[in-house]
Amino acid sequence: MELKLYNTLTREKAAFQPLDELNGRPPADWRVRMYVCGPTVYDFAHIGNARPVIVFDVLYRLLRHLYGKDHVKYVRNITDVDDKINARAAERGITIRELTEQTYQNFKDDVAALGCLPPDVEPRATQHIEEMKTLIERLVKADFAYVANDHVLFHVAAMKDYGALSKRPLDEMIAGARVEVAPYKRDPMDFVLWKPSKENEPAWDSPSDIKTKGRPGWHIECSAMSWKHLGETFDIHGGGIDLVFPHHENEIAQSRCAFHTGLMAQVWMHNGFLQVEGEKMAKSAGNFITIRQLLNKWKGHPWPGEALRFNMLRTHYRQPLDWTFHALDESHKILWDWYGQLKNVQPNADCPKEIVAALSDDLNTPQMIAELHRLHNSGDLGPMRAALNFLGFSGEQINLQRNYVFQPEAGQLVLGGQSAVLKVTRADGSVEFDKATQQKIDNHISARNAARKAKDFKESDRIRDELAKMGVVLKDNKDGTTTWEVAR
Ligand code: AMP
Ligand code: ZN
Repeated sequence: MELKLYNTLTREKAAFQPLDELNGRPPADWRVRMYVCGPTVYDFAHIGNARPVIVFDVLYRLLRHLYGKDHVKYVRNITDVDDKINARAAERGITIRELTEQTYQNFKDDVAALGCLPPDVEPRATQHIEEMKTLIERLVKADFAYVANDHVLFHVAAMKDYGALSKRPLDEMIAGARVEVAPYKRDPMDFVLWKPSKENEPAWDSPSDIKTKGRPGWHIECSAMSWKHLGETFDIHGGGIDLVFPHHENEIAQSRCAFHTGLMAQVWMHNGFLQVEGEKMAKSAGNFITIRQLLNKWKGHPWPGEALRFNMLRTHYRQPLDWTFHALDESHKILWDWYGQLKNVQPNADCPKEIVAALSDDLNTPQMIAELHRLHNSGDLGPMRAALNFLGFSGEQINLQRNYVFQPEAGQLVLGGQSAVLKVTRADGSVEFDKATQQKIDNHISARNAARKAKDFKESDRIRDELAKMGVVLKDNKDGTTTWEVAR
């Protein structure tokens, strides 16, 4: 099946051909190589950040389907050196490493709850400093970059076709980049590849004979990590639309000039913003909801990650997506209804070709969802279940909700047309779960006790968090036993 993708570089939707095919590699050796800019790990990810993770997860699944699992390499980096990280660690009185490690674990758990597969490689910036320095030295040697005042700067004027991705006039680029005017810059557009570190900031030996210690700029991190894991040129580069300029433009400048190539990646893909009342959801705007909040409790209830995933996919990835309670509730209701019928249905072996065809048309997920409705309406539940599995919907969380004995309480928020109560509260205030759920909780507690015994505290915390998502709060008693109660 022909895969068509919209390419920001050409502003066109075109048939995709892996570079390995174009370069005449035998199909058995093909790798479709994809890089997506990942999170800066200083705080919980918000649901706007979840959008590229979900969108490129769907693309990853599709590529694996079309080319075979062993023929796709997906790299999503972790930015673990950044001024925001330094500031937050100082604020919280913990080390940078503690902060980035904790935040990364949280991110990993959050996106797993959204049904996203882990990428093949999740490189960390701090583990690729040598590659960054190598690139920087190459750029200096080839006169694309220069040293000034213990900084290394990329000289934009040295690259003939700088700006090919964003296609903006120069004055607009200057305004958009909020360029820092510094006396040592040859040109205001020049951007930082390396900068000196102040006391208490992470610091490494600098490249290009600079005596003071320093740290990398943000853009060079992605050029170095994509090079290390995918090579000088690769197939697909993705991220949110806000990254087109300056981040991706500068990645292109660095990589193309360091390797003397005409392309960094052949296809550049960007998701639109998730917005609230017409405004981009962002930490700085203060209008954000974290993924974790949603999973734990938002507007009175925990929401299954699948409901968020489904809700995202109802809008085409390049369109802006308006975040509303109503749409999320509706998405949850659809899944609830479907899984009520799919519970005991075995999936067919193959994902229906209409679903693959919809996704192959530049990830047309609204069309893909229309196909799911069609399968549902025609009672083709085996293929439908196969399609849902393929798309990252296991139904596990929704079915877990279904397992709970429920009894609507007055004034309770109704999810999916059913009250998603996690428990039955009796008149005397006591609480009861159904047997299957009791068993599940007991199993979790035994697994956690075993992890604690083995001093695997990461695992025991993970289980505690998983139970918390179910509304179960654990209490470790002095006598070594663990009891639990329902969150109020
Ligand atoms: P950041 O941590 O801000 O660098 O963002 C991580 C990823 O999330 C990038 O690919 C951003 O483009 C993307 N992103 C941030 N905010 C939004 C939003 N409101 N809607 C969609 N994508 C976003
Ligand atoms: Zn990047």
